[in-house]
Amino acid sequence: MKRRIIQYRPSVGAEEYKSVGGCFEANWLTEGPKSDAFLEGLRDLMKVKHACFAPNGTLALYLALRAAKIGPGDEVIVPDFTFFGSASAVEMTGAVPVFCDIDRDTLQTTASHIERSITPKSRAIMPVHIYGAVGEMDAIADLARSRSLVIVEDAAQAVGVHFRDRHAGTFGELGCFSFFADKTITTGEGGLVVTNDDALYKSLRFLRNLGRVDRGSFVHPEMGYNFRITDMQAAIGLVQLSRLAEIAGKKQKILHHYRSRLGDVPQVRIIDPPVGSTHIPFRAAIYAERAADLTEFLGAENVETRSFFYPLHLQPAFAYLSDSRPMPSDAFANAVYAYENGICLPLYPGMPEDDVDYVCDKIGEFYGR
Ligand SMILES: *Cc1c(COP(=O)(O)O)cnc(C)c1O
Repeated sequence: MKRRIIQYRPSVGAEEYKSVGGCFEANWLTEGPKSDAFLEGLRDLMKVKHACFAPNGTLALYLALRAAKIGPGDEVIVPDFTFFGSASAVEMTGAVPVFCDIDRDTLQTTASHIERSITPKSRAIMPVHIYGAVGEMDAIADLARSRSLVIVEDAAQAVGVHFRDRHAGTFGELGCFSFFADKTITTGEGGLVVTNDDALYKSLRFLRNLGRVDRGSFVHPEMGYNFRITDMQAAIGLVQLSRLAEIAGKKQKILHHYRSRLGDVPQVRIIDPPVGSTHIPFRAAIYAERAADLTEFLGAENVETRSFFYPLHLQPAFAYLSDSRPMPSDAFANAVYAYENGICLPLYPGMPEDDVDYVCDKIGEFYGR
């Protein structure tokens, strides 16, 4: 039987299972002691004053944008190269996502790419930290300050990742994270918003808890919705957080193995993080010559690959944006280049080293060495 190299497998086991059991023993299922402890751990990790949960990363972004009073008539600048949810969260507020290009080498957006997309309607910037590295947030924060723009960071893939000793998601007003099954630490589904701003935190609390602060009251001073999670999810997250260094170390080790095995294959290049950023690899993201053919070849050899993100300006769901505002065809040249030349190779915490060897052997075979 041919072996199968899967793209990703979350690292959850006996400890997480036992922790969920604790919720049954304590008979506490909604946000409670486990949620409080998980939040405290996350605030410590990120050195941030306030944090609250959301049901997932997309809704964390929506919640953050709403807390910043982004809505109809506003524009939010979003990198063209990101997960669809970054931009659909903007659309959900009634604001318009305006795309910007990225740096070809790091896949991150930069201040100069963002600046080209600023218009009089721009209210916020959403830097997205791609594939477990952080973009140049010092320059982006300077730009935001000088143009009076709010920063809502999409740090969904960047729990535990730092830029110049500062945790992802803490450079601007609001930072958002995801705990989806394939993110660095997971609760199955789950999201987080962090802020150092007391007023924004107050808005987040009202918005996420049906316009009130306390649970038991039926008086709702403000408009709000239900963005709560369960203590079972927090129970998993709490254990995952305690294992963050282990998970990060395992992922880094696998990327290192790919690097040493692919070092003498000139047709492929592993994407490096920007200078100043740490890296907890989301997958093994590479540029490869004849990427589409390699993808097909690896698929036939039972290696599950993923494409890079499909550029947002080409998404059928966002066609209405380019109809109303045509852009020059090279406006997103790097995002298009990345999509056409990039491949995500399998990488997950428990990935066997000989699976990495197998993938690298097949890549060597493809290029005919
Ligand atoms: C996963 C992800 C999201 C959305 O998070 P969900 O929890 O899946 O809703 C948003 N942006 C990026 C960059 C992501 O990787």
